[in-house]
Amino acid sequence: MSMPAPLQPKQLKPELLKQEPLQQGQLRLISLYKSVQGESTRAGKPCVFVRLSGCPLRCRWCDSTYTFTGGKVYTLEAIVEEVRELGCGLVEITGGEPLSQPETPRLCQLLIEEGFTVMIETSGALSIAALPQKTHIIMDLKCPGSGMESYNLYDNVELLKPSDEVKFVMASRQDFEWMQDIVSQYGLERRCCVLLSPAFGLLKPQLLVEWMLESGIDGRLNLQIHKFIWHPNKKDV
Ligand code: SF4
Repeated sequence: MSMPAPLQPKQLKPELLKQEPLQQGQLRLISLYKSVQGESTRAGKPCVFVRLSGCPLRCRWCDSTYTFTGGKVYTLEAIVEEVRELGCGLVEITGGEPLSQPETPRLCQLLIEEGFTVMIETSGALSIAALPQKTHIIMDLKCPGSGMESYNLYDNVELLKPSDEVKFVMASRQDFEWMQDIVSQYGLERRCCVLLSPAFGLLKPQLLVEWMLESGIDGRLNLQIHKFIWHPNKKDV
């Protein structure tokens, strides 16, 4: 049977990223704080979060809309210094969409050179090619229920390493079946860890577990544990 043709991503909307341009060596930061990692294979570990401003997508269930605009401009060195002061070896660069700022790969490199384990959480709509090899990439592939499925950049799949993770946030059975097709089409179970997340408040975790077990998929249930520890709407935890 021939493979279906690869899906082509839709053009991103640059107008959604309109902010004053930054100089080289700068990033626009929303917040920087220490908490426990809420998702991924490192869930539950102490982690410093570097939350950057801007995102060219508009997922239906986005819980980070406050990151779309604003933020303060920092130099990369100042961010590294703040991370160092928090005394934690694990750092996650997140947003928004952290790759919407061109200096993000350089920040990852500087943190890696300082000896930090660096994770990045990215939407899957922008190329991950510029990220240093030692970055642990958590890449969303947007399901139809998010309204952003057509922005997925499937060229990224070839760049994933066994230490990376692909995440699907699902709100319905339709999303689950779509995820199964994509996992099989791109051989994702063989490439890296596949994270399966219920969209918070939209799909019951128990139902997702039942579907996972019935389907035999080699995925990992990924609950956003910070939404169980704190109020689900609490920011920056
Ligand atoms: S990619 Fe992330 S930050 Fe951007 S709209 Fe979607 S959920 Fe929100």
